[in-house]
This record gives sequence, structure tokens and C-alpha cells, in this order.
Amino acid sequence: MTSAAYDNDNIFARILRGELPSHKLYEDADTFAFMDIMPRGDGHCLVIPKKPSRNILDVDAGSLAAVMRTVQKLARAAKTAFGADGVTIQQFNEKAGGQVVFHLHVHIIPRFDGVALRP
Ligand code: ADP
Repeated sequence: MTSAAYDNDNIFARILRGELPSHKLYEDADTFAFMDIMPRGDGHCLVIPKKPSRNILDVDAGSLAAVMRTVQKLARAAKTAFGADGVTIQQFNEKAGGQVVFHLHVHIIPRFDGVALRP
């Protein structure tokens, strides 16, 4: 399956270019992580590849591996920093799959026993 073309002006591409502000948490050669602007729980953040990638359907294996390494790093850090009981990892692909911003991103959401996510 192929996905639609990458849009160079999507919000996360603009954050990567420094055209829009973000609350940056982490950066390395291949990935960037920042706080979600509408958090569904305390500590909700996002990890994205620097290489233009629309979603998991078209990302290359190297960028995907780099993203997941960063996801694990930040999931562990967020669990410790927030004293969370667990962590939810979410990732959406294409409109039908719930994707709104068309640059691959992985949601990291610290979770607490008995506390539901905000809508
Ligand atoms: P959904 O909105 O269904 O979670 P996505 O997986 O495409 O779909 O998520 C896009 C995420 O990007 C949302 O959680 C939204 O709050 C977040 N977001 C949108 N604009 C910004 C921004 N400028 N800075 C940080 N996060 C943003």
C-alpha cells in the first residue's frame, strides 16, 4: 500500500524548520520530541523523524528504528518524571486511521491507575 504525497508545509515540518514554536524535549540526528499542544494526559508528548515521512506506511526502516529508540527513551523518562504507573503509545495513519497531522508521529502518554485519558 502506498500513501499520499508528503506535504512540506504540515505543522510538524514547520516545527522542524523552526517556523513554529514547540516545547522541545529531546533531539538527535534523526529524531525530535516535543510536548503535545493539546495533551490528553499529563506529560503527553510526540516523537517525530527529521526525515520527511508522512506516516508508518511510507517511512523508511532506518527512520522508523530511530523513532522507536527515541520513543523508548522518552517513555522511560516520562514514566519516571511523572511517577506514572504505565505509558500508552499511540500512532495513527491516514485520515481513516485517525491521523490529523501528516508527518509521522508517535504519541507517548504517561498513565495512572484509575485515570482515563482526556478526550
Ligand atoms: P489526533 O489529533 O487524532 O491524535 P494525530 O495523531 O495526527 O491525530 O495527532 C496530532 C497531534 O498533534 C494532536 O495530539 C495535537 O494535539 C498535536 N498538535 C497539533 N499541533 C501541534 C503543535 N503546534 N505543537 C504540538 N502538538 C501539536
